[in-house]
Amino acid sequence: MQKICLIILACLFLSSCGDEKKGKDTVEKVEVIEKPIVEAYGFNLEDFVVLKDTVRNGDSFGDLMIKNKVDYQKIFKISTEFKDTFDVRKIKIGKPYAILKSKDTSEIAQYFIYEDDRINYTVVDLRDSVIAYHGKKNVKYVERVASGVINSNLSTAINEQGIDYMVTNNLSEIYAWSIDFFRLQKGDKFKVLYKEKYINDSIYAGAEPIEAAFFEHNGESFYAFSYETDSVNNISEYYNEQAKNLRRAFLKAPVEFSRISSRYNLNRRIAYYGYKVRPHKGTDYAAPIGTPILATANGTVIESTRRGGNGKYVKIEHNSTYSTQYLHMKNQNVKKGQYVKQGDVIGWIGMTGNTGGPHVCYRFWKNGKQVDPLREKLPVAEPIVDSLRGRYLEFISPIKAKLDSVPYIEVKIQEEVKEEQPLTLK
Ligand SMILES: [Zn+2]
Repeated sequence: MQKICLIILACLFLSSCGDEKKGKDTVEKVEVIEKPIVEAYGFNLEDFVVLKDTVRNGDSFGDLMIKNKVDYQKIFKISTEFKDTFDVRKIKIGKPYAILKSKDTSEIAQYFIYEDDRINYTVVDLRDSVIAYHGKKNVKYVERVASGVINSNLSTAINEQGIDYMVTNNLSEIYAWSIDFFRLQKGDKFKVLYKEKYINDSIYAGAEPIEAAFFEHNGESFYAFSYETDSVNNISEYYNEQAKNLRRAFLKAPVEFSRISSRYNLNRRIAYYGYKVRPHKGTDYAAPIGTPILATANGTVIESTRRGGNGKYVKIEHNSTYSTQYLHMKNQNVKKGQYVKQGDVIGWIGMTGNTGGPHVCYRFWKNGKQVDPLREKLPVAEPIVDSLRGRYLEFISPIKAKLDSVPYIEVKIQEEVKEEQPLTLK
């Protein structure tokens, strides 16, 4: 009877731990189940008396060692000969450490383990000849699929499902060039594929960058697939199902998560001016005072000043055709002549000059004339190179099929478990 139970357990164990272990002897697995090994930092903790703590104010490596019966010679050796691996002066307050002591009555420290961060640690072997080395915890990636229908806004739709806020940020970055996130419609839908990272099987350590996404906005479909185009420099970009880059030469808006309070309108009439035509040659994005204003494309700051109704503003020249201007800032963050990159914070939302409320008036200049950027056909970033196109389409085909098969329900459970390594293409 007992034997049958063990075999069933062994089968369960085998099915959950991947193919590479299936070849091993069943009897060995049975033993594992009967006597589970408590493993950490590459040690069986049952072989030691384990002391776990964090570095406290006033703690020094020397004190900790003396308290645990390590002799001065060894402490001296560690502090002088192993500086490159473990600099004893650099232990920081609040960092976790463990001391593994001998299980006999002497309880002499045999190993000191210092956690450099959540994944990396350093082991100081304090037995006969002292040495120090680095170790790494086991990191596991769990694939997740999530989908949702937007009723109010994206963050709410995502937060309701307990999905990491990083996924929201990531989504808004991926689609920053194609979807106005402040103009989402009720009923817009999304699906995302990404991985969650776990340390030693159980400690959640955040969401990895999105691998693939689908967004339905206003009845239009937007696919996004992460693809590594340069494995040497580790560069990945998001492309759509036709291998077109999702990035554009210009961001859709100079502010993340704001709303358009007034569009470009040459026939605007304002009550205050007796309903006379007062053309509005900018697009107003309302957001709280202090919200960062971003450069919508790379370029050189040609003006950063304060003048009349414009208040404090910045003007950036992107090339011989395009310039952009950002009005009513609380303060500028850039100087004339400075080169800025797309997404750089060039100032903050304010109310300087003629304005009824906090917003940035975004003005888009094309060949010296102000135009409506929301109506312009703006240049897109580099498409995928021809030599990679075929491989890319082959790569995304199963991912797209998987994405397409995801239904729009509240929360999707985890799909499959893969050890190590996020999805990459070689
Ligand atoms: Zn305006």
